[in-house]
Amino acid sequence: MPDYHYGKTSTRRLATANPGLQQVFKLALELGLMDIAIVQGRRGRAEQDRYYAIGKSRVRWPHSKHNVINPLDLASAVDAAPFVNGEISWRKEHCIYLAGVIQACAELLGVPIRWGGNWDMDGEPITDQDFQDLVHYELVNHGKRRVQKDADGDRRPV
Ligand SMILES: [Zn+2]
Repeated sequence: MPDYHYGKTSTRRLATANPGLQQVFKLALELGLMDIAIVQGRRGRAEQDRYYAIGKSRVRWPHSKHNVINPLDLASAVDAAPFVNGEISWRKEHCIYLAGVIQACAELLGVPIRWGGNWDMDGEPITDQDFQDLVHYELVNHGKRRVQKDADGDRRPV
């Protein structure tokens, strides 16, 4: 497996996010399945409102999990893109592959996250939602995870 390391910019951006998210993205890169670029952690007010205006975000500041009120607080969201053949790739296929790697790492570490390609956290990513944010990962509260038991006792998302 390739030995990937975050560059200076990705490292600086990842440091603006919650430690649980930092752990997830460090493990995801260590696995060596795909190189990763951290596109954003914390996002300030002007940028959030610009994202809202152009439709890249559905919420105004400070309602995104990238936003913090105290500028030194850590963000509860990270945008991360595949890094393929020496450059960031926004291709859907690459983003979806990376999401599987990241979600699996989050499960292994016990860090509850939600991916912008599966907002309702069910077993059907992408095709049952109309707002795709395939590079977005955010922390969720354990209590918000919608999981119920099947008749045979297996846990499954609903
Ligand atoms: Zn995001």
